Amino acid sequence: YDDIKAVDPEIAAAITDEFNRQNSHIELIASENWVSPAVMSAMGSILTNKYAEGYPAHRYYGGCEHVDVIEDLARERAKKLFGCEYVNVQPHSGAQANMAVQFAVLKPGDTVMGMNLDHGGHLTHGSPVNFSGTYFNIVPYGVNDEGFIDYDEVERIALECKPKMIIAGASAYARIIDFKRFREIADKVDALLWVDMAHIAGLVAAGLHPSPIPYAHIVTTTTHKTLRGPRGGMILASQEIADQYKLNKAIFPGIQGGPLMHVVAAKAICFEEALKPEFKEYQQQIIKNAQALANGLMKRGVKIVSGGTDNHLMLIDLTPQNLTGKEVEKLLDESHITANKNTIPNDPQKPFVTSGIRLGTPAATTRGLKEDDFDQVAEAIAMLINQGESAVPQARAIIKELTDKYPLRFE
Ligand code: PLP
Repeated sequence: YDDIKAVDPEIAAAITDEFNRQNSHIELIASENWVSPAVMSAMGSILTNKYAEGYPAHRYYGGCEHVDVIEDLARERAKKLFGCEYVNVQPHSGAQANMAVQFAVLKPGDTVMGMNLDHGGHLTHGSPVNFSGTYFNIVPYGVNDEGFIDYDEVERIALECKPKMIIAGASAYARIIDFKRFREIADKVDALLWVDMAHIAGLVAAGLHPSPIPYAHIVTTTTHKTLRGPRGGMILASQEIADQYKLNKAIFPGIQGGPLMHVVAAKAICFEEALKPEFKEYQQQIIKNAQALANGLMKRGVKIVSGGTDNHLMLIDLTPQNLTGKEVEKLLDESHITANKNTIPNDPQKPFVTSGIRLGTPAATTRGLKEDDFDQVAEAIAMLINQGESAVPQARAIIKELTDKYPLRFE
């Protein structure tokens, strides 16, 4: 950071402030994590200087022989990690990977089924404010009153609307997704099944959530959530599907220019880390911690959508306390807990207000917190929900003990 300080003290100061925020807060945003020093170094490396439009051995620029090695390694490791034939590691983000799939497979006006945003789906799965909801005829599906995906209802809707593609995958769904059932439904109506496993990719890599690879025609993911890599996206498929839908062309030149080779290198490192046995232990701890947090909250009178979690996240339903997600997000922030307000199924509030809070354990698990620590986090959150503003000093004291116990490194 000395280089940054010398050139741009304002940016250096903001980075230092952000480090101090991260160090003094418990991070519970379900989609965030802390990358390893090796992943971080790759992102800050000289690879950022290189243009490499195209793919290994087929580039539109000279001097690509070394970045070819990097992209080949990233692809081979991802194939090994997830057990698939084709991978594209160039998407700049999850949204780019998702856009490429839709660009490759669909024509404007085609009918697509995606999970309702209010029920846990992602913006790129057909929200009216996103390109996906603008260019395609989106028919949403959701969860039942207990908060579980209603597969019979998914099937009924599919038989009725005959979609060209069904999207499975979510941003705020705490339960195992039955990809086999989704494929059976897709086959019944001759639709393509696309799974967006962004949130659960780390759990899938570790074998702790059933893999979508045997069932989905196409899979997309981000690399920065449970997978603990750099910010970015990826597309996975069989070679046959990749050829049929020209998936490489959909990314470049379809919707992107040059790949971010420093990020591709960081992805390769992340996959290498994820292939190690310690990664499985880490993913197991994420789930144990999520269960400790959910149980700790429920035993203190906090309602969790679907009554628990099978993965790394959970959704608090604040309607029994007559609170909004916006209010509670602020209380959490004042107590040094970072989380996000989130709509709950059939939310009576607007998306900017909401009746829910989404919590996830991947980042704090990387930091070192274990089940007992998460019970303390549950104590702090329940106190805030049950007592309001008056509980902030006590909740903050609990969090300070934890952040002091697990200090972050600043490289
Ligand atoms: N897909 C899912 C299921 C997500 O939850 C997210 C991000 O939260 C994305 C895609 C988009 O990823 P990105 O923010 O990298 O565009």
